[in-house]
Amino acid sequence: MSDHSADDARAGDARADDARAIDTYEVLIVGGGVAGLMAGVYTARASLDTVVVTADDPILTRNAHLENVPGFPAGVNPRLFLDMLRSQATRNGVDLRSGRVTRIDRVSDGAAADLPDARFVATVDRGDAVAAERVIAASWADAEYLEPLGVDLRAAGSKTYVEDDGLGRTSVEGVYAAGRIAERYHQTVIAAGHGAEVATTLIHDSAVPFYHDWVAPEGYFTDRGRDVPPGCEEVSETERRARERESMAAMREYFAEPHDERQRTHPSLVDDARGRLPEDE
Ligand SMILES: Cc1cc2nc3c(=O)[nH]c(=O)nc-3n(C[C@H](O)[C@H](O)[C@H](O)COP(=O)(O)OP(=O)(O)OC[C@H]3O[C@@H](n4cnc5c(N)ncnc54)[C@H](O)[C@@H]3O)c2cc1C
Repeated sequence: MSDHSADDARAGDARADDARAIDTYEVLIVGGGVAGLMAGVYTARASLDTVVVTADDPILTRNAHLENVPGFPAGVNPRLFLDMLRSQATRNGVDLRSGRVTRIDRVSDGAAADLPDARFVATVDRGDAVAAERVIAASWADAEYLEPLGVDLRAAGSKTYVEDDGLGRTSVEGVYAAGRIAERYHQTVIAAGHGAEVATTLIHDSAVPFYHDWVAPEGYFTDRGRDVPPGCEEVSETERRARERESMAAMREYFAEPHDERQRTHPSLVDDARGRLPEDE
């Protein structure tokens, strides 16, 4: 654990005081890559008020063609994949914000009256501070902002990983870690799946009573004399057809034209005089 200096404590109190006018969420997710976005889809669908704050482009934007995620037999443009994932997050109620989280502090007792539901306050460098009851760090490759909280971190060469209990809980109650920053394997579907898993841990730790997030055909539960469980839904055949048509129209639109965002490469190569970007070829 990091030491808490008196200065850090004072800074935390000050930030908590500043936080009186700021937005409070049940879940703050730091990092809008596949892990953070997928975690957000899960927490928002569990009716937890969720914000994702993200700094730069996710690392997946550097991929040239994504060929090992489920559901795309001929692969998919990674930037389109991210567009679709962001859209899935917002459709399900996630607020997306731009900015780099520079530190997270505990809400001090003094500020607790003003932020009754928040335990943490995040300072954001290009945006407003955000208060939250729980935090998911999905911010490959930055964990520095967790140091004021004393979250256990593990240095490995030039990288720093967030230690977790195997289900995404860190050493600080209410703070979770997902995706590559939690030292999971470096693949898209693994990061996305881990985001979903960690979000589910968080949901189980929260007041949400039961959670499957299933959409079932009408009668699946009720025709067997059972209530539809919380977090599950039965849809009629008409509704099922309507959703199918909507998804077909959305996918036709997404796949109508090649994606217009340029290919990215490693940041160290961007200013390389030899050039690796299409316009320099
Ligand atoms: C060239 C390349 C090709 C690849 N190809 C494939 C492939 O073909 N198949 C495959 O499965 N995987 C591939 N990967 C790996 C895959 O992209 C990653 O494993 C996965 O995207 C990691 O997701 P993540 O959400 O954990 O991290 P990221 O996608 O990096 O997301 C983290 C986000 O957090 C943000 N962030 C960081 N710090 C802060 C902060 N302090 N405040 C706010 N936001 C912050 C970052 O800006 C970033 O947007 C490739 C990776 C590279 C580099």
